[in-house]
Amino acid sequence: MYAVGVDLGATNVRAVIGDDTGMIVGRASARTPQGPTAEVITHAVLDVVRDACRNAAIEPSSTVGAGIGSMGAIDRDTGTVGLSSNLGNGEELLKPISLVDPLAALLETDAVVLHNDTLAGAIGEHHHTHPDVDSLVYLTISSGIGAGVISSGRPVLGADGNAGEVGHMTIDADGCLPCGCGAAGHWEAYCSGNSIPALARLLAAGDEGGSEDENGHKDEDEDENENRHTETALPLESDKLTAAEIFEHAGSDPLATRVVDRVAELNVLGMGNVINAYAPAVVSVGGAVALNNPSLVLDPIREQIESQLVVQTPEIACSGLGEEAVLQGALRCAFASVDGIGDGGGIDG
Ligand SMILES: [Zn+2]
Repeated sequence: MYAVGVDLGATNVRAVIGDDTGMIVGRASARTPQGPTAEVITHAVLDVVRDACRNAAIEPSSTVGAGIGSMGAIDRDTGTVGLSSNLGNGEELLKPISLVDPLAALLETDAVVLHNDTLAGAIGEHHHTHPDVDSLVYLTISSGIGAGVISSGRPVLGADGNAGEVGHMTIDADGCLPCGCGAAGHWEAYCSGNSIPALARLLAAGDEGGSEDENGHKDEDEDENENRHTETALPLESDKLTAAEIFEHAGSDPLATRVVDRVAELNVLGMGNVINAYAPAVVSVGGAVALNNPSLVLDPIREQIESQLVVQTPEIACSGLGEEAVLQGALRCAFASVDGIGDGGGIDG
């Protein structure tokens, strides 16, 4: 008996075919289309699922169901996703992306479950890596920051399935950096992979913390002067500067070191808020920024987190499933849906 797991992200859409132990027998992936319509994303998802079925040598209609972990704002009533601010041409909100109905039609089953990607990740981590605990937070630090929460064995959905948007907690009341959501001072606007280059430019300009120069503004000459305070060989002017490059030079480049230190301080604040809110036994951390730099990202959190906590200090660990957490959680949801566990307050909620 096989089911489908789908991970729809801003960059890639991935699908696996697997059994109820999580063993994968086929997979496929593609770049997520960057607009111009919601339909092209729906079709991209269906194409990737068809490809994964082909690679598993199984007909789509032979699978028993599907779970989807998706970016964006989930609408569980309609089985659709509102376009995420992380996805390309963000200014014009597209109409919701249909996922559940088209996938149900392709697979010829009603057992199709939609969760946000971080909750799917939490379900995957809980089931496969930490089955012995009943309260767990899966925190992803990648192009964005978000969390999925399992509390007392149940997934925390919120009113509409979108609980866990912890990347939009304010960690800087002065709001130096704008967030993709339109507000300022959010955790994700400082510490996500997409934002760390902007934090580097901010620190190089000496502007963080609301300290302005005498004229209340800066120009390029002043930028050069400020850069002397923290020397750097990072190509700050290039829009191709990446978080990966900054982490790579931490310890050798003074500005890169400062940026990674500041990210660590802010991650301690963000993570402290999350842990105080949910009191998890485990925080499982995934996402490319954390998975590619486990010691630079997680060690400072482990060392400093206790100063922030009024609840028990949880185990803080890299995701055991790594980049597979969302796919495995989605697959798990598919089988839970088939088994009818969902109605009983189990992992489908
Ligand atoms: Zn935000």
